[in-house]
Amino acid sequence: MAKAKAPARRTIRCYLCGNRSEVSLRTMSTTCPKCNRAIKVEDVTVKTYLPVNDLQTCGKVTITAKGRVVAKRIQCGDGVVCEGTIEAAIETDGDVSLGPKALWKGQVLQSRSLQIADGAKLLGLVTVPWHRPESNGEKK
Ligand SMILES: [Zn+2]
Repeated sequence: MAKAKAPARRTIRCYLCGNRSEVSLRTMSTTCPKCNRAIKVEDVTVKTYLPVNDLQTCGKVTITAKGRVVAKRIQCGDGVVCEGTIEAAIETDGDVSLGPKALWKGQVLQSRSLQIADGAKLLGLVTVPWHRPESNGEKK
């Protein structure tokens, strides 16, 4: 057995306050050191119908061809890959990718970049590239 290495770390950005911090790759959820609220870190895959209020994670959101998210908004750190249906505003620091059968319907779509396959449908206001404002902070 090899010696245990220091766990790999990743940088996450709190979707509630925009603060960046580091967590272990294996972390599923954590508490933001700035706003002290619980935040989800793990990647989320939606394979069926999912009605929620807010779908939030610092990770990535994947919606498979049979997946359908109906929410007020999706906030995530590592982008959205959609082959299915999203009915929600999207706010992500990452990229959004819509497959050929994808349908997005929402108020606003804000992301760093947007890839749209032939056949994908979009209904709403798209703001790309979008960068979340840095948390107005007391700089030390
Ligand atoms: Zn925070």
